[in-house]
Amino acid sequence: MKLTPEEAGLKKRLDEYLADKDFGYYPDEETVAATLRGLCAREREKGKPYCTCCFLTGNSEIDDRNVCPCEKLEEQIRRDGHCHCRLFAVKD
Ligand code: SF4
Repeated sequence: MKLTPEEAGLKKRLDEYLADKDFGYYPDEETVAATLRGLCAREREKGKPYCTCCFLTGNSEIDDRNVCPCEKLEEQIRRDGHCHCRLFAVKD
């Protein structure tokens, strides 16, 4: 997976988050790289890595629930096998 330094920095933070989880990255590297790119763009533009698929309301209490890793991801993984943006998924 070819990443910019910014994307690699975000991935390192997410690697640490994943250390004690029973799920990992989505198995398709291109998909993961594209989502990391989108999250970095949002962090650059909006200050935090808000989920690329969420609409920002301007209300920080609501919007912060969609900072990656978001609060609904474990529920999504249990239900669908992956989070909405296909960054994280059940392990094979
Ligand atoms: S859906 Fe996935 S990529 Fe989007 S914020 Fe949640 S964990 Fe991150």
